[in-house]
Amino acid sequence: MLYADENQLLINPEHLGPDEEKVVLNADKTEVTIMANVTMVEVKKRQLKDEFTILSNVIIDSVTYGGTVNTGCHGVGRGCPALPDLVVKLEVVNDKGDLVTYSRADDGEEFMNAVTTNLGLFGFVYKMTLAVKQNKITVETHNEYHSVKDTLTNSSKLKHLAESNWSTEIFWFPYNSILHNIKELLKIKKEDFLKLPTPNLDKWDPLQDDCWLRLTNDKSGGKTEKCLFHFRHKFNDALGELGLKAITPLLDAAPNLNPYFCCLNSHVVKLQPSKICVQLPDAIHFRKFVHWAPVHDMEFAFVVDHDYSNIVEACKVVIDEIERRARQGNFPMNVCMEMRFMGESKSLLCPAVVGQHSPNKEVKTAYIEVLSLVRRQSRLARLHSSNCHWMEQDWR
Ligand SMILES: Cc1cc2nc3c(=O)[nH]c(=O)nc-3n(C[C@H](O)[C@H](O)[C@H](O)COP(=O)(O)OP(=O)(O)OC[C@H]3O[C@@H](n4cnc5c(N)ncnc54)[C@H](O)[C@@H]3O)c2cc1C
Repeated sequence: MLYADENQLLINPEHLGPDEEKVVLNADKTEVTIMANVTMVEVKKRQLKDEFTILSNVIIDSVTYGGTVNTGCHGVGRGCPALPDLVVKLEVVNDKGDLVTYSRADDGEEFMNAVTTNLGLFGFVYKMTLAVKQNKITVETHNEYHSVKDTLTNSSKLKHLAESNWSTEIFWFPYNSILHNIKELLKIKKEDFLKLPTPNLDKWDPLQDDCWLRLTNDKSGGKTEKCLFHFRHKFNDALGELGLKAITPLLDAAPNLNPYFCCLNSHVVKLQPSKICVQLPDAIHFRKFVHWAPVHDMEFAFVVDHDYSNIVEACKVVIDEIERRARQGNFPMNVCMEMRFMGESKSLLCPAVVGQHSPNKEVKTAYIEVLSLVRRQSRLARLHSSNCHWMEQDWR
């Protein structure tokens, strides 16, 4: 479907192409060609069925390959590049309506690094061919909980985590050490619910909050979870996202609820199993139904210093700011801060290109993102523009 105005064309690719052309795996299982409107979950199902693996990807399963490859979305995993780095061929409908093909084989690496993260500027990407691993990969994910002090602000611990696990993801849901206030919340009468006073954060120390560590490693030959696990996981995610959707307007009406909500959220996360063995595509795309409760997501990529000290500094910027705001009764980050580590990208417009390419040196990139439920837009925007010091640092 096309929508046009004077200088622009808005394309809705929802009904693009016949089903049999949507995901096509080549005979020796080294490349897969995917249409732009195909979602992560559709390709995940094909990976599980045909036993191949896309080694770099996005955690939510509802977004499309067109929307993630062409914007330079990252993946997760030590040494993993970004999604556009896997592209070997792009088929693009240009501004004249011609179908043009760009490929590493015909146009070379340098050219492809310039066009793979294209933000739609070369036209409408119709299909993309990605390099894949020919086999299925079984992994084990450990869910652990350690204090902020012991993780986000501890450079040697961060280094150890990021370098001893294939994938390290760290989530901080702020205020989660104020559990005593949750107990107070439960005593509140229904009619006083929205009048809830600002939680007493005098004793809150962000360094004592717990972080959720999601550590994933190879587990070849491991026994993977049964159908029931996947059903339960799906059910929990659906329930969680519906809960987030319902609570969003409430948090706007009564901002003081934010710390209680974040605290509760973090404790709900702890209900999941401590160890999960699944196929890699299941481990990567582990969040479902995220589109039901939209969030604002600000994300930066940092080249990791040899001792991880700049990553600690970057985390402290957020922690200090959230603490300062909380003391004033402001709660701009009401979902979480998330950090994960990967390699670098060669695709020029991809944020993970921040490293200086060096053939002899492995460049590590840390992605740090701040997530807030959508109705927090104004507060989040203020946090970003006036007080986020990331932009001012020479960390590129
Ligand atoms: C909660 C949350 C978690 C996220 N987690 C991750 C993550 O783990 N890793 C990660 O990398 N990203 C992550 N993201 C970011 C997300 O992957 C991007 O926002 C992605 O662009 C969304 O895809 P979409 O299909 O909705 O794209 P759209 O919004 O439809 O498209 C985005 C842009 O892509 C371009 N585009 C789309 N289709 C085409 C096409 N056919 N041809 C040319 N250009 C095209 C256009 O410029 C368009 O404006 C996350 C986002 C959220 C909200």
